[in-house]
Amino acid sequence: MKAALFDYTRPADLQQGLQLLAEGAGDTKPMGGSQSLGPMLNLRLARPRAVVDVSRLPGMREVTVEAGALRIGGSVTHAEIEDGVFPELRGTLLQTVAAGIAYRAVRNRGTVAGSLAHADPAADWVLAMTALAARLEIVSASGKRLLPMERFMLGAYTTALEAGELIAAVHIPRLGADARWGYTKFCRKPGEFAEASCCAVFDADSGFARIVIGALDGAPRALPGLAAAFAASGALPSRDEVQAAIAAAAPGKDAVDRKLIAATLRRCLEEVLGHEKESA
Ligand SMILES: Cc1cc2nc3c(=O)[nH]c(=O)nc-3n(C[C@H](O)[C@H](O)[C@H](O)COP(=O)(O)OP(=O)(O)OC[C@H]3O[C@@H](n4cnc5c(N)ncnc54)[C@H](O)[C@@H]3O)c2cc1C
Repeated sequence: MKAALFDYTRPADLQQGLQLLAEGAGDTKPMGGSQSLGPMLNLRLARPRAVVDVSRLPGMREVTVEAGALRIGGSVTHAEIEDGVFPELRGTLLQTVAAGIAYRAVRNRGTVAGSLAHADPAADWVLAMTALAARLEIVSASGKRLLPMERFMLGAYTTALEAGELIAAVHIPRLGADARWGYTKFCRKPGEFAEASCCAVFDADSGFARIVIGALDGAPRALPGLAAAFAASGALPSRDEVQAAIAAAAPGKDAVDRKLIAATLRRCLEEVLGHEKESA
């Protein structure tokens, strides 16, 4: 099926884009790389009157350092991060995450903001940005707000974005030189969405310690007790501790799913400890 007719505009700058979204009165959608919106339009699950292409807006294609945090423009593509186009992101967790999203054709066009706004529970940026305690810079014709990732995704495909709003950028606290992380996802085939996923980040300098599991029924869930214990002991938690943490964070999951999540989580923590690299 093909999309129903819609107007397409590529604004010259952010202000014009925000004006078009404001005038669209909720019937106009921003478009990033169209890797999720495109299929939604073709299936007629989305039928906006107009689409505003924000994929090339200059201020949304940059990575800068502001007040000790990284500011990643919302229209930066997965491939640009994978390729190390931005020196600040080379060798980081983000570069690893980007390289594992879908396959290259999707990464060439898909954007960080588009992925977050789409809010697929299994999406990689949704998990990684939650683990990194990212804050989203959300702009509209009437102003700007910074929203923590944990208050952004309200459920599967549901976010706190309001009509006329755009994710202009993502702000991430900079980690210390000795920070360690792990990122693991279980997929049936390479390039597919994850069936279970886990991201863990530890920065002894700042005391930052997060373990987050994804590919759940809604938003990713943090396991703060497990993260604190792992940061303190540096030892892998027992199977019972892992199962208890997962049961508390994702009570709706059945035994098979819980086992899959537990295996993914354990592999992620082994990666943090470097076991996987040693045995590779
Ligand atoms: C075959 C296939 C496999 C995939 N596999 C994976 C995978 O393994 N892991 C993964 O994480 N993702 C996967 N994806 C999704 C991919 O990462 C997309 O890039 C992403 O979901 C959407 O990004 P986009 O820039 O293309 O957004 P679009 O498709 O352009 O937009 C998606 C939604 O976000 C809104 N939007 C876009 N930009 C903004 C903005 N700046 N501010 C506010 N709202 C905005 C749109 O209105 C729309 O509602 C896959 C996609 C495909 C087609």
